[in-house]
Amino acid sequence: MAVAFLPTLARGLRHPLTAPPRAVGRCAPRLVGAPATVSRRRLAATPPRMALRVTPVPTLSDNYAYLITDTVARKAVAVDPAQPARVLAAAAAAGVAITEVWCTHRHPDHSAGNEALVAALARAPAAADAAAAVAVVASGVERDGIPVPGTTVSIRDGAAGRVAGTAIGWEAIHTPGHTDGHMCFVVRDVSVPAAAVDVDGLGADAPPVTVGEGGEAVVVVPALFSGDALFLGGCGRLFDGTPAQALASLDRLVAALPPATAVFCGHEYTETNLRFAAAVEPRSAAVAAAADRVRAVLGDAPWGDARRGTSVPGWMGVEAGVNPFLRVREPTVAAAVGKEGGDAATVMGALRRWKDRF
Ligand SMILES: [Zn+2]
Repeated sequence: MAVAFLPTLARGLRHPLTAPPRAVGRCAPRLVGAPATVSRRRLAATPPRMALRVTPVPTLSDNYAYLITDTVARKAVAVDPAQPARVLAAAAAAGVAITEVWCTHRHPDHSAGNEALVAALARAPAAADAAAAVAVVASGVERDGIPVPGTTVSIRDGAAGRVAGTAIGWEAIHTPGHTDGHMCFVVRDVSVPAAAVDVDGLGADAPPVTVGEGGEAVVVVPALFSGDALFLGGCGRLFDGTPAQALASLDRLVAALPPATAVFCGHEYTETNLRFAAAVEPRSAAVAAAADRVRAVLGDAPWGDARRGTSVPGWMGVEAGVNPFLRVREPTVAAAVGKEGGDAATVMGALRRWKDRF
């Protein structure tokens, strides 16, 4: 696995090769890339345009691990595999081999499974074909140099690479605040089911719908694996960092990623986060609409039940309108915490303290 330290991220990801084409108008996403009359046989004969998929894997009481799968190579990355058995079961169900692990930060509900997963993969029959042990890619700058358990590839801000034998290219964004060394991972050109797009929330930023390799309706977008730095409707507690650090981290994510970026976060906290968002901005129609959508998506099945829905992915463009921690420069948010005219970091600090007690 190649790791390079690239200065590209500061310039953002909005260059012509990665930015998804914009949909026009506030209508439903258009179908592009293949005419409606194209036959399934022709689609099957055409090399798939994109073949990266994300599978959320519920772990513990409300954590998400993820599999990022190259469906052509049949290889996958496991993100934050706190419960290796569940991640291995998901990989087996998809018929893919896990060949790399990424970990967003050192907290055990994200990192405690790294070593056990690598050990389990080494014992698997397929491991005889593997050229090398499964790499664990994680922050090299966690608090006081404490390594993330199992780390074999230490990364810093701007690290980038490609998972060997796959189309999974990635870049890391250092997002201190929740922990000193927290890393977010960005993967380009991920296929997401079109049904997961919040068309109303994204408006003109809704990505165009195209045809996946199986003939299904998908959007091809950048994906952010945000760990506990950014949740849908919220952000992680500031265990290590200051409000100013958290603000800078969230500002970087917003600057680096287009609105039609799928957000896969580390916990299913969306419903309670949006209740807090409604307390902060009680007159926000966008918050009310997002809360309605999440309630409908999640359903009543218990956590870990296959019938339970997930609020992921969210969308950066929707978060900008509903997530109070991305809205600390809005006068309504400053007023809600009694910091009218205060600077953004002051509002962030007051907002975070309120959420800690909420
Ligand atoms: Zn954490």
